[in-house]
Amino acid sequence: MEAISRFVAIRRDLHQIPELGFQEVKTQHYLLRYIQSLPQERLQVRTWKTGIFVKVNGTSPRKTIGYRADMDGLPIREETGLPYRSTHDGCMHACGHDVHMSIALGVLTHFAHHPIQDDLLFIFQPAEEGPGGAKPMIESEIMQEWKPDMILALHIAPEYPVGTIATKEGLLFANTSELFIDLKGKGGHAAFPHLANDMVVAACALVTQLQSIVARNVDPLDSAVITIGKITGGTVQNVIAERARLEGTIRTLSAAAMQKVKRRIEAIVHGVEVAYECEAAIDYGAMYHQVYNDPELTAEFMKFAAAHGGVNVISCKEAMTGEDFGYMLADIPGFMFWLGVESPYGLHHAKLAPNEEAIDRAIAFLIDYFSWKGNSEV
Ligand SMILES: [Zn+2]
Ligand SMILES: [Zn+2]
Repeated sequence: MEAISRFVAIRRDLHQIPELGFQEVKTQHYLLRYIQSLPQERLQVRTWKTGIFVKVNGTSPRKTIGYRADMDGLPIREETGLPYRSTHDGCMHACGHDVHMSIALGVLTHFAHHPIQDDLLFIFQPAEEGPGGAKPMIESEIMQEWKPDMILALHIAPEYPVGTIATKEGLLFANTSELFIDLKGKGGHAAFPHLANDMVVAACALVTQLQSIVARNVDPLDSAVITIGKITGGTVQNVIAERARLEGTIRTLSAAAMQKVKRRIEAIVHGVEVAYECEAAIDYGAMYHQVYNDPELTAEFMKFAAAHGGVNVISCKEAMTGEDFGYMLADIPGFMFWLGVESPYGLHHAKLAPNEEAIDRAIAFLIDYFSWKGNSEV
């Protein structure tokens, strides 16, 4: 049998019980049982919905350093064929949140035994993939009481080799919003278009007009994406469609561009309502705030990592992906970084299989970083 470390074993346990947002009951139970096995003298543990806060009291605290790990899986049927694959049919840890939790437990274990000067706050956050746990968690009473002075988090990155840490100062992940537009006109016989209001034609016009926003309204030096990924409408080939629905997503590099794009979408949709004599409703669904890395803390972290023997630091570009950790960074200075786990399959893929060597290396590195930061003067 292959020898695996304690935290790789924990990751495999967690991998087998993926749960969707705010349903992380077994996961929470597993984490709590493990946390209770640690020396309790310096720990304060409080649950919040299916999440957990663990405070490690420092020896002479001047500040609190927060560390966040997300907990939820995705509604994806796993296809890795691994012996420790998901036992929850149709659900999978396909975004590496199992790896995130095991790393957090590894770091927590060390500091439960060897406290540093400052307080540490470990945050196990549910529902990152949806409906979003970061925002309500940061607004929770516990977070307000135990609010860290700085906060960090990592995310696995299949495209980088093990040992890689990639991040940048400032914007790391885009502002993202879902987009659902429902159109309602008047159905009728395919041969009598003058007696109906055809929503297939209105939907097609709308999709085309939406393309003008990025081309004509967004500053060329800023960036935005509007993608309509799905259109549904009508019932059968010879009946004019009474309804049509567009489903898409908006991504922007700045919060201002997101506001502008939404205002333009509303104006264009209103124009289609008038022109095609129909009713339209817009729903922005879930929204993720941008992940904005505090420049000073990030630069300091990257400098520390570059001087650390165990990791290779890369300065990366921002990505048009979303992450609800952005809500925490909107309130508390800090940063997020990518952790290389070299897998040929990307995030949210049914065959994603992170290289588990990354787990112990990340734990060792983060222990060194927290020990340094939590004993330093600032
Ligand atoms: Zn994800
Ligand atoms: Zn994720």
